[in-house]
Amino acid sequence: MEIRLEASTRSKSVSSTDAVPSPIALYGFQLWFYHKAPTMYHMKVLNKMQRRAVTWILGAFKTSPLEGIEALAGLMPIRFHLQKISKRSLIRPFKLPDNHLLKTLLNDNPPSTKTPTPHNIGSLTNHQKSLIKGHLPDTHTKTLGIFPSFSPINPEFSPGNRITDIFPNRFSFIPVNKKVENCNNIRGHELDEMVLCCSSESHMALIIMDASIKSDIATSISHIHSFNHPLVKTVHHASFVTSTEAELFAIRCGINQACTINNVSKIIVVTDSIHAAKKIFDNRSHPHQIHSAAILSELRTFFSSKESNTIEFWECPSKLRWRLHSDVDKDSRSFSISPSYPTKISWDYCKKIDCNDSLNLWKMTFQASDGKGRNFLDLLDDDFNIIEPHYTKGGPWLQTFGHSNSLCACTVRAITNHAPIGEYRLHFFPGMDFLCLCSNYPIETRRHILHKCRRFNGYWNPRRDSLSHFVMFLMANLNAFAFVSS
Ligand SMILES: [Zn+2]
Repeated sequence: MEIRLEASTRSKSVSSTDAVPSPIALYGFQLWFYHKAPTMYHMKVLNKMQRRAVTWILGAFKTSPLEGIEALAGLMPIRFHLQKISKRSLIRPFKLPDNHLLKTLLNDNPPSTKTPTPHNIGSLTNHQKSLIKGHLPDTHTKTLGIFPSFSPINPEFSPGNRITDIFPNRFSFIPVNKKVENCNNIRGHELDEMVLCCSSESHMALIIMDASIKSDIATSISHIHSFNHPLVKTVHHASFVTSTEAELFAIRCGINQACTINNVSKIIVVTDSIHAAKKIFDNRSHPHQIHSAAILSELRTFFSSKESNTIEFWECPSKLRWRLHSDVDKDSRSFSISPSYPTKISWDYCKKIDCNDSLNLWKMTFQASDGKGRNFLDLLDDDFNIIEPHYTKGGPWLQTFGHSNSLCACTVRAITNHAPIGEYRLHFFPGMDFLCLCSNYPIETRRHILHKCRRFNGYWNPRRDSLSHFVMFLMANLNAFAFVSS
């Protein structure tokens, strides 16, 4: 197996994201990494590779415990990383159109005589299904729990037929100009003026919508105001969806209702998530295509019926607490429902929880297992919580000391207690000297260096339990945990 490590430099910006085992090493991992597959050999090779990468990034000792230094470098252990990308890979076929070969193979329906597809999963007996192992059966199992949300060959997205091509001037976005001072107050006045205008014009419909998620149940609400019409409210609940999906659904319901009102030629949508509204006109493949297609079809009818028909999307940040939007927000939070039966989940939500699961598993094992090393020094963050491993922006440790090579190496050695000090020599090289040079203490231990040794008192703060103070101590005492010659 060819192994290539991509770590840009070991110097100033030790970027661990670049150092993730390169796609070359994991190319085609689906062939050997699946449910119930023996992976011991592969893991051994990949762990070896990961260890090389991590020791190179951190300047740690070869003897340092792998799980500990992986966390310090902000690299997920290879088995969790594989779990994460494997779960991602399992849900990828959802993006494919229904006539794709892979989708045909995953077809669960029993074969019909008219169109025999002898290789699809539906043509297997239950016994055969139980015997087959591999990525494809895993994908099939995964698909059972997710509802479809992609619609790549929907006519709404076909080039030449898109709303963005045919009616490019009929829709517009009015976001908050964040570069201006007092932008929220200005937006408040603008919205008030717009409502005043709406209330006197019979051809305008105002949709104010919001969505909130409470214990995995999303509530999508839209209020539709129009001249001489009673207020129309729509409320929908969905379980296990993301906030973008809930927001888009609220827009979908609002537009659907507004289009049914007679003589409306201008629809104004007020939303706190303008990014969700922009997804409607996004022609690329994305997990909200089902909603986008439904909204686009509604808008196509609306735009085609009269040349002057338009729609505007106004951004109204939640923190502005604009009167009409707060009413909707309050409504959306007033429901408390709990899911009563197992339901399918959305693709986007599945991706999110799969990623969180792998991350939580890493945090849990890191806390509970001895893999990080018995002497791993648990430090606190600025909020006095024990630092947990994470991979965003190089992880919490590298963010603090990754700017300097020598500091990084010293800190890592000190945290893992695999450093050129007496305590380490006593353990690994019993024949060597382990006395502290201050000659006040029989063994040069990490505890002695940090708290008692008079050779290292360059930093006045007695606290060493938080990472920032710990790093300050090492910066003030450059010789601590470093090789004497350096
Ligand atoms: Zn000493």
